[in-house]
Amino acid sequence: MSADRAKRGDALADKLARIGVLRDEDLVLHLPLRYEDHTRIVPLGAVRAGATAQTEGVVASAQIQYRPRRQLVCLLRAPDGGDATLALRFFSFYPSHQKALVPGTRVRVYGDVRDGPYGPEIVHPQFHAVGDDAPLPDRLTPVYPTTAGLAQDRLRKAVARAIASDPARTAEVLPEAFLRRSGLVAFRDAIAFLHAPPPRLAPAAARALVERTHPAWTRIKFDELLAQQLSLKAHRKARAARRAPVLTGTGALSRALLERVGFRLTAAQERVWREIAADLRRSVPMQRLLQGDVGSGKTVIAALAALQAIESGRQVAFMAPTEILAEQHYRKLAAWLAGVGVEIAWLSGSLPAKARRKAREGLASGAVRFAIGTHALFQEGVAMPGLGLAIIDEQHRFGVAQRLALRDRGLADAHQLMMSATPIPRTLAMTFYADLDVSVLDEMPPGRTPVATRLVSEKRRGEIIEWVGRMCREGRQAYWVCPLIEESEKLELQTAVALHAELVATWSDSAAGAAGAAGAAGAGGPARAGTPITVGLVHGRMKPDDKAAAMDAFARGETSVLVATTVIEVGVDVPNASIMVIEHAERFGLAQLHQLRGRVGRGAAQSTCVLLFEDPLTATAKARLKVVYESNDGFEIARQDLAIRGPGEFLGARQSGVPLLRFADLEHDVELIERARDAAAELLQSAPAAAARHLDRWLGGRQEFIKA
Ligand code: ADP
Ligand code: MG
Repeated sequence: MSADRAKRGDALADKLARIGVLRDEDLVLHLPLRYEDHTRIVPLGAVRAGATAQTEGVVASAQIQYRPRRQLVCLLRAPDGGDATLALRFFSFYPSHQKALVPGTRVRVYGDVRDGPYGPEIVHPQFHAVGDDAPLPDRLTPVYPTTAGLAQDRLRKAVARAIASDPARTAEVLPEAFLRRSGLVAFRDAIAFLHAPPPRLAPAAARALVERTHPAWTRIKFDELLAQQLSLKAHRKARAARRAPVLTGTGALSRALLERVGFRLTAAQERVWREIAADLRRSVPMQRLLQGDVGSGKTVIAALAALQAIESGRQVAFMAPTEILAEQHYRKLAAWLAGVGVEIAWLSGSLPAKARRKAREGLASGAVRFAIGTHALFQEGVAMPGLGLAIIDEQHRFGVAQRLALRDRGLADAHQLMMSATPIPRTLAMTFYADLDVSVLDEMPPGRTPVATRLVSEKRRGEIIEWVGRMCREGRQAYWVCPLIEESEKLELQTAVALHAELVATWSDSAAGAAGAAGAAGAGGPARAGTPITVGLVHGRMKPDDKAAAMDAFARGETSVLVATTVIEVGVDVPNASIMVIEHAERFGLAQLHQLRGRVGRGAAQSTCVLLFEDPLTATAKARLKVVYESNDGFEIARQDLAIRGPGEFLGARQSGVPLLRFADLEHDVELIERARDAAAELLQSAPAAAARHLDRWLGGRQEFIKA
């Protein structure tokens, strides 16, 4: 590589690196986005607006015009005479353009033809001077993904050279018998075809080329997925070779906990607890995902796992995505574990420096065994010399990229338990999450009353306000969730403040009336008839202390209604709350709506979730809300969500910019993923050298990206 590199000069190498091309092998796999047909010449007189065409002509004139703006306009005539003309129009041009378009020059041009003031014209055509019988290419011309300053021509030459100069770069690495059985085309043929397809393909083949379903594309996608599967298997093997502390436990603390919680584990909880406990007793680091719908009781399982580590003399880190959720966990576990005699260090961004230092010191010395906080706090690096187990809650809130970051952050030799309420789509489970073991909580704790869901137009918002007011006077509590405003946290905040003020004003006005109304008296409860309904507010910009105070007041029943932005989405547990109102429900993701709805239905009262939506709804929005309306099953909702939105959203990698898969598509290539998975197992068994060569071809330069 270095010799080629030196010859090409660093500038080109830098530009290639920017598009992910680090080695000449990578150029071979740098495949076109699309193609142009430069194999034919349409006679200049036959060029028509609306088509993309290549033609030839002789420059009749080339002049700079100033109206309506500065531009170069060049008029071409047919080389064999005649009246037909074609105008070339350049809004941005250099002196070199004028030099190349001297009258009398014969040029070959390519571009989209449109109607102009002088007849057909092409704006910013590709063009170059040619002799009388300049040969035409006999293949379609590839258009590659590129970057600023790297011209297609240059990239084409680099790719062609990389392919032609060393046959090893396109040599078959997969065993022949395997290929024959799987019906895949040869790698070299696929590469040759995709970089330079023949012109005038049959319509079906042309379509397959564009849609990337052509056998040549199938081979490339298969190879990419195979490399990913091989990499996953390699990663799994590397994990198996690592050593984590064996957490045998004594059962003393976990038994004490189970006596304190006041409920019996469901059969599903018993089962997953056994699975996790067995993993912890092994010296191979656990990487297990605990999946369970909202409210299925994951927290107690996390606590049991933590206690097994603590019984074994080790430390535990428990991470949650938000400060509110981390705090909820802290309180719940602190209450449970106080009776068991286990101290917890609370690592909050809002703690005074002194308290935080004390917590850190306790963990660093090993005196404190259990830490709870947000992921961010742990990412700053908290010293826990005896760390045996890391628990990561609401894993689905993080994309694949963050998952990788967390995984590689010093936690490598601890056991890991991830928890998620969102089931992983099947294709992701087979790819980016394939190295995880999965336990599923498929049973709800007893005594839950299903939440009734109502879809209500915003036009009837007034009725809902009145109804919520009435219910709260009877002692119920309600969450009121503000519309999600993705573009602007500030706007979202303003909306929350305004909504809070509106509800306070409405209910204090009607309080007088309600007091006098016969039969309006509620028995006990936080808000008696006649007293104004107390309304609290939580949003993401509040100081953590204020946030906690607002949550507390709601949890204790001092406020009846809690106006909230989506900060309450995950994990909040206030059993007395039985009403959830979500404004502009159509703006939320399905999983998010389901999570929000899961905040109610936790106590004895019949709970209701009101989804307010803005009329008229788009067809997609209608379909999505219908899913939440019809189903209470988080797994089913996630499946439908996936069908409507596609798995890209789950990857969460779009924002982080990690290139995950370049060619294969998790939505459409399910069958290929399965084949690649089987092939990876087979190859590692029967042809490990071929597997290694394949991995090197695909990931040699960028292993780190795909070792999900
Ligand atoms: P999630 O899986 O959404 O994190 P939680 O762990 O917060 O659910 O549990 C929801 C509620 O159910 C909590 O109040 C919890 O204490 C309670 N719970 C958990 N397991 C059981 C059980 N087996 N029986 C009764 N209640 C339970
Ligand atoms: Mg939870």
